[in-house]
Amino acid sequence: MKKLTFIIIAIFTFVFNSCSPSVEGETKNWDRNLNQLLKLKTDFPAYEDFINEKISDAETIYKSADNISDEDKKAKEMRKANNILSSGCIGDLKNMSSKIDDLNKKKREIEKTIKNKNNSKNDVVYIMTLVENCKNAIKKAEKVLNKKTSDLDTNPCKKIERAFKGLQTTYTETDNAISDFKKAHKEIDEKEKKKEEAAKGLKCEYCGTKNKSTAVKCKSCGANL
Ligand SMILES: [Zn+2]
Repeated sequence: MKKLTFIIIAIFTFVFNSCSPSVEGETKNWDRNLNQLLKLKTDFPAYEDFINEKISDAETIYKSADNISDEDKKAKEMRKANNILSSGCIGDLKNMSSKIDDLNKKKREIEKTIKNKNNSKNDVVYIMTLVENCKNAIKKAEKVLNKKTSDLDTNPCKKIERAFKGLQTTYTETDNAISDFKKAHKEIDEKEKKKEEAAKGLKCEYCGTKNKSTAVKCKSCGANL
């Protein structure tokens, strides 16, 4: 019984700790976030000043947490600092490249559906629009990523967030269209298969005579079909 109580307490402590911030956890997050941002600066030199600014904002909060003696309050303040380095447009900037890759893959996937022989004219037009939308969203995101500091908007955060949202919306739109096309084509394919089978007629298992597809009994030997 004692052992069981101990295990239950251990599980509760684990769950509790993984939800609420701890000083130890936030210190680790801080180091990890700073490292990621250093890499981000080398990947996107245009954003160096912008990233430095975010780091300095976060540092002010992170350092002020040093003066808080209450562990819970201290951890919460540290988490606030960490959020500046990991969420919002910084988070979008971190994930932008992988989102571009994802959308590129979706674009290729939708491009393939254009070859389907069951496409109507409208389908083809729609697919081509979707491919264009993918290209535009990717172009916009790449433009935002590669801008020179001097050309950067007064509010780069807004630009990043808009480009990122554009990638996300286009991805969802394309993905939905692909599954709709797949479903529609499956239905058409199945109908055609049934038609073909009906045209072939039914072959009797016993004597091999070809019967009409609607026949119940073989016209030659009378066996059930
Ligand atoms: Zn027969």
